[in-house]
Amino acid sequence: MNRSSMPRSDQITFTGSTLDRADQLRVHPDRLATAWADPRACIILLDGLDPLPTDEGELARTPVSADAELADHALLGLREDGAPVFVSLHVTGSSEPPSIPSPESIPKVWQIVPLLAPAEAALYGGARSLVDWHDRHPFCARCGAPTYPAKAGWARQCGTCQAEHFPRTDPVVIMLAEYEDKVLVGRGVRFPPGRFSALAGFVEPGESFEEAVRRELWEETGIRVGRVDYLASQPWPFPSQLMIACMAQALGDALTLDVEEVPEAMWVSREQVRAALAGEEDAPFLAPPSVAVAHYMLRYWLGD
Ligand SMILES: [Zn+2]
Repeated sequence: MNRSSMPRSDQITFTGSTLDRADQLRVHPDRLATAWADPRACIILLDGLDPLPTDEGELARTPVSADAELADHALLGLREDGAPVFVSLHVTGSSEPPSIPSPESIPKVWQIVPLLAPAEAALYGGARSLVDWHDRHPFCARCGAPTYPAKAGWARQCGTCQAEHFPRTDPVVIMLAEYEDKVLVGRGVRFPPGRFSALAGFVEPGESFEEAVRRELWEETGIRVGRVDYLASQPWPFPSQLMIACMAQALGDALTLDVEEVPEAMWVSREQVRAALAGEEDAPFLAPPSVAVAHYMLRYWLGD
């Protein structure tokens, strides 16, 4: 692959949904009720917040039953044949985010997502973020009164002050600093021993992506960077980040680590990255899992 060619977005897990989000139905109660009553309508099933897969790599689905209430569901969108797809807004089970996988312990969600067809994984990611947001936002941030689902599950409305609240998406920059044909990988404080990845951090109010990349690399590793190039993005539903992948041209390679955040970091060569991605035993680090955009970023840097 030519280094300058842009990546195909469907190579990144949690992107590539084929649903029409049909936002025009969300604010028309009559059209929404018609969609709910459509005999082809289905409800995708989650296990807590984890996916429930079929043997065919799809998400398990059930028809809309007579006792199901539209108000308890979100309209995720319409399939290509026009069939409506819903998800229940009630979580049964744990809503804890999955831990970072280690060779000894791979959370269930990380075992299932790679088995799903890409469009199904994307559908799952969006559904999970949305359902989890409803579960964690039962009260109005303005007045403290209870809120209720609105706009076919794409908003909540306060019953007292009438404020509308919308599902949040939190931008996170994730970046590979590059210097003399090596890239910088770090072990986050919550990572298991040996696992390194691209460095990442939340974008703060008043920052551009590029400024957040420069600040994070300076704060965590003492590296100053010049040019920053946007590469790709990934919705990351744990719970609701938007990962913004960037390449950053470092101006030097001397590291001063903020060990509270990044206990270890190192510059790695193409051969070392190749070995890590191949899972070779003598590789200098464990690569990020294939579902993570960092995995994709390392492949992109190699030109795969
Ligand atoms: Zn309120």
